[in-house]
Amino acid sequence: MTDTLTKFMFEDATVRGEMVELRRTWEQILVHHHYPLPVRNLLGEMTAAATLLCANLKFEGSMIMQVHGDGPVKLLVVECNNHLQLRSMAKLSEGQIISEQASVADLINRQGNGRFIITLDPADKSAGQQPYQGIVPIEGDSIAEIIENYMKQSEQLDTRLWLAANNELCRGMLLQRLPKSGGKAMQDDQEQAQQAWERATILGNTVKPEELLTTDNATLMHRLFWEEALRVFEPLQTSFVCTCSRAKVGKMLVMLGKEEVSEAVGSLGKLDINCDFCGKPYSFDAVDCAELFLAPENKVHPETIRTH
Ligand SMILES: [Zn+2]
Repeated sequence: MTDTLTKFMFEDATVRGEMVELRRTWEQILVHHHYPLPVRNLLGEMTAAATLLCANLKFEGSMIMQVHGDGPVKLLVVECNNHLQLRSMAKLSEGQIISEQASVADLINRQGNGRFIITLDPADKSAGQQPYQGIVPIEGDSIAEIIENYMKQSEQLDTRLWLAANNELCRGMLLQRLPKSGGKAMQDDQEQAQQAWERATILGNTVKPEELLTTDNATLMHRLFWEEALRVFEPLQTSFVCTCSRAKVGKMLVMLGKEEVSEAVGSLGKLDINCDFCGKPYSFDAVDCAELFLAPENKVHPETIRTH
């Protein structure tokens, strides 16, 4: 079974873990794009990481990871909801050459002005309630390291991530130390918990990226943790779902402004836009575009037009 996320827990409840394998989902993310290799890998790792973090969302809604890069990568977006439905994409700056060995900093934080934002967006927000946004410092040589640092600083959670991607799939594994249980925790328990965490991460560290990409969840779990008492949960399904719509594309055009849109419509008399995530085409002709900029109160409905 591919496109699954499996959660597991160490029996003494000190450490929890997850493994994710995205194949069909990743194929659908890549189908309309030809990203340079390091960009594809970065997007794949970020997609796997977002899915792993989303599996622990405590609300109905989504998490959005966004990187606004200052180098050859202008934008990276991964959106995933608590049902593990996700989409992701990358946008490149024009005319930049990307070396195959480009590091994360080369790609998104060349001048130190890259911004990485995680947004938590509950579906049932009350009126006026803003989604929660956290700024992720771009500290680390990999997406895994950057997110680990963020989790430690913002959530006070020890988290380790192992991520890898190629053309066929993206993979990830997460280990997280569970917060101490309230007041009664004894010194001995804490020491034991510390040892269990160290042991789990040592075992996790033995996994190589190549091994991640070639081993399914169940086999890998057995290979790494066969000596541990683990509770393994039923695998959860992940899938590619794009939430684009004509109305959303229209809103985006309104944000661009009337002048820019009419310029783009230009002599062709229409504007063809493909969704950055799923490639779905949307076409707006000059009349459609003019209508977008009519305030609702100015809109004339055909049935209200009088001929005399
Ligand atoms: Zn779409």
